[in-house]
Formats: sequence, structure tokens, C-alpha cells
Amino acid sequence: QQERQKYVKGKKLGSGQYADVFSAHLVSDPSKLVAIKKIKVGPEVAEWGISHDSLREIKFLQELSHPNIIRLHSVFSTKSQNLNLVLEHLPQGDLLKLIQDVENIHYGPSDIKAWMAMLSRAVWFCHENFVLHRDIKPNNLLIAANGEIKLADFGLARSFADPYAHMTYNTITKWYRPPELYYQASFYSGAVDVWSVGCVFAELVQRKVFLPAMPDTDINMIGIISSTIGTPTEDNWPGVSKLRGYVPVEKKDVTPVKRKDQWEAEFRAVGPVGADLLMKMFALDPRKRLTARQILEHEWWTTDPKPSRLEDLPRKG
Ligand code: ADP
Repeated sequence: QQERQKYVKGKKLGSGQYADVFSAHLVSDPSKLVAIKKIKVGPEVAEWGISHDSLREIKFLQELSHPNIIRLHSVFSTKSQNLNLVLEHLPQGDLLKLIQDVENIHYGPSDIKAWMAMLSRAVWFCHENFVLHRDIKPNNLLIAANGEIKLADFGLARSFADPYAHMTYNTITKWYRPPELYYQASFYSGAVDVWSVGCVFAELVQRKVFLPAMPDTDINMIGIISSTIGTPTEDNWPGVSKLRGYVPVEKKDVTPVKRKDQWEAEFRAVGPVGADLLMKMFALDPRKRLTARQILEHEWWTTDPKPSRLEDLPRKG
């Protein structure tokens, strides 16, 4: 209650499936802008209330301070079931808008490397602090005025919104989710986010979604992962057939795992070293996938070309 009185709410910046976002400034300093994201709490949540656990977790996000993670300044509720997130103000759009604007936005391997470095550092920092993002995709990568990429929209916040609402496959999409989620693995690790980082990497290069199953049902997603990357089998992923959601595949329908030379040919723009990094983010077995730390240790970052400087990155006019 006290927290909300620190801000003066301004115009609406936008509205998503589960939130309205407003511009606001500090009462104490009108030059300090923030964005207030007002989560539309679904009836399911309203009934149960926002749990203490969830609130504790969201409070924890406030402690995550990193240049490539959107700052969560504070959280307050209006009425009993309304959740307001006070966020860093980032009005420059998101990475998806840049990827899709093929007409006006031209970028190359140095820009991709700069964006990927910022994303990778953000994910590494989350994992160091025992936070999984779980919903990394280009429209959750907001762009700051200085060109920095900021990882936003932690899946956690989304879980308050309306967990059961059915949404069209463009909003809460499964295109960035790894195979272990479709097989309903009960463990779940940072490897989940690394797969999504791989999907963003591939999409930056190709300027189209890498694994676009339509509609994005679990079956279709497993299908497109199998045909694009390879079919999960006991050979490439020991134990996969024991997972609860595993769907057996006949021998004749198994697609072999994509070879290194195929990755290189498909992603020539980032060179063989870049293709090697990409391939290792897409290991089917989550235990064999690179960790965020290993991503940062990969030789691609120090291989030519150098990443673009922030001020040289393309941005919306
Ligand atoms: P979506 O559902 O499209 O992911 P959000 O619910 O996160 O979108 O936000 C809706 C809109 O509000 C966004 O498209 C963007 O224009 C704006 N927005 C979100 N977060 C911020 C922010 N931190 N600063 C400025 N604008 C924002």
C-alpha cells in the first residue's frame, strides 16, 4: 500500500495477454521513469490468492541485479488479488521486432554475437542465483536506450496470470521449449533455458522461428524437434524411454541426430565455431547440453568477428 504511493501512473505503454503496462514516474523524482506491469489475475488465482511461496519468489527476483536482466524495483498489490510489478522502463521494443523487420533492420554476425553474449550472461547470472527463466524467447528480450538487451518477463510472473486460460499459439508459445518438457521429465534444470537460448540464436541467424510447429501441440513439437534436430532415442539420451510422457518411435521413423557438417552448412553465417556452439545448445539429452557457464567459455566469443559495440547495434528508428 505504501509502495504504490511512491509512483505517479502515466499513460498505457501497451497491453499483453495477461498484463497492462503503464508508464509511471517517481513522486520523489519525476525524471525517474518506471514501467508498472499490472498483472491481470485470473479467476483461478483470485480464488486461491497469491501464495506466500510465490510472493517470496517474486521478492527474490528483486535481488537479481544484472545489466542484462530487467530490474524489478518493487512489487505491490492493489486490492487483495492484484499484482503490480514495478520494472525498469524500456520503451525501445524487443528483439522480435528487430528480427521480423527484415525491410528496415539489417544486422550481421557481429550484432548477433553481441546480442547472444548479453543473453548468455543474463541466463548465466539467473542460473548462478538458482533462478530458471523458463520462457526465453525474442519478445521477452527488451532493448534499452543504450542498446543493451534485457531479459524480461520471468515465467514466474506469468504463472500468476491465468494458468488455465487457453491462448492462441502466438502468445504463450511452445516453440522455445526443450524435448524433456514434452516428455514430462520431473527433473528440470537450467538446460531448459539453454535450449531456448539456442532457439533464439538460430532465429537471429535465419530471421525465422527455428522450430515452428503449428499448432504447437506436444506431439507436433516432438515431431519438429525430431525432424530438425534428431529423434530422441535411448542411444542419444539414455533413460528417455522411461520418462512419463515418452512416445515410442518405430526404428524406421527415427531421424538421426543432425551432424556437425549439417549445422555448419545451415548456419554458415556464424562460421563453424558458431555452429558448434549452436549444436551443443541443442543436445537432446539435457545432461549433455552446455550449461550457461560452458556457453560463456566457448571459443566463439573470442573468434572473429568481434561482437558489435552497443552504440553500433541496429535499433528501431
Ligand atoms: P506481451 O504479452 O506482448 O509479452 P507484456 O504484457 O509484457 O507483452 O507487455 C505489453 C506491452 O507493454 C509490450 O508490448 C511493450 O510495448 C510494453 N512493455 C512491457 N514491458 C515494458 C517495459 N519494461 N518498459 C516499457 N514498455 C514495456
